[in-house]
Amino acid sequence: MDKRYNTYNKFLKDKFGVKVHKLIIDAGFSCPNRDGTISSDGCIFCDEVGSFGSTHSNKLSIKEQILEGIEILPKRFKAQKYIAYFQAFSNTYKPASELERIYNEAFVDDRIVGISIGTRPDCIDKEKIKIISKLKFPQIELGLQSIHNDTLKLINRGHDFDCFLRAYEMIKEAGINVCVHTIFGLPNENRSMMIETIEKLAELKIDGIKFHMLTVLRGSKLAQYADRIDAMSEEDYCNLVCDSLEILPPTTTIQRLPGSGLKSELISPLWIEHKFHTTNLIDKIMIQRNSFQGSKYQAR
Ligand code: SF4
Repeated sequence: MDKRYNTYNKFLKDKFGVKVHKLIIDAGFSCPNRDGTISSDGCIFCDEVGSFGSTHSNKLSIKEQILEGIEILPKRFKAQKYIAYFQAFSNTYKPASELERIYNEAFVDDRIVGISIGTRPDCIDKEKIKIISKLKFPQIELGLQSIHNDTLKLINRGHDFDCFLRAYEMIKEAGINVCVHTIFGLPNENRSMMIETIEKLAELKIDGIKFHMLTVLRGSKLAQYADRIDAMSEEDYCNLVCDSLEILPPTTTIQRLPGSGLKSELISPLWIEHKFHTTNLIDKIMIQRNSFQGSKYQAR
């Protein structure tokens, strides 16, 4: 079924001619919000694997992780092309002099058609951006979560919205594709505040977005308050995602609708385990509304 929003899968298929699979890499990076540089506590939702959401381990080298992926995925999915996704923790949090070698290790052969690097806005600078800009089909995934500084403080992000804007502008100046991560259901945020975050991202005309629902994972700070968290229902979340899709520009690629954590670590909300059910509900609501991504987008 054709989607009523601009999926990243379709964007990649149009660009490379076949479905492109992401190979998740744990390159052994850390995070200044966990190693004591900014804080030792981390963001309140972050678990011990740095919101890795995978069973991979950095005991394998980057090259070994890639080779393992391109050995397994063709058997399961007839996969042919891949993007190396540096996901765990903050993947620019090393001196610039080391980064080039680290990223290039992922390009084992021509089947690796691009690279996606997840990081924090305060872990990037012009020198690092220049290194990334020279890689094949680079994308930076930038954690924001909310534009509201009170929320960012409450969730212990360790940076404010201006910091995000500075990083975003530097990356865009270098011509690199940026995918922004947001979270719905953060403490003290009402629906209007969540929509304000999406409206601001629409104004920036971001290249891509990953929507997440706040999840309580074992090992996170949030787990201590699990019984006090009034999690959003699946229906409310899906309606909010549909409202957001309508506001975003049609060009923004939708890279994730429901977030997903490691099932074994999940405390709440339990509906997040059924990713396909949530995606189907979003599709159904868009059809019921007879709506499309960008139907309420206002170019500025
Ligand atoms: S920035 Fe990412 S890795 Fe660092 S504490 Fe926050 S969620 Fe965890």
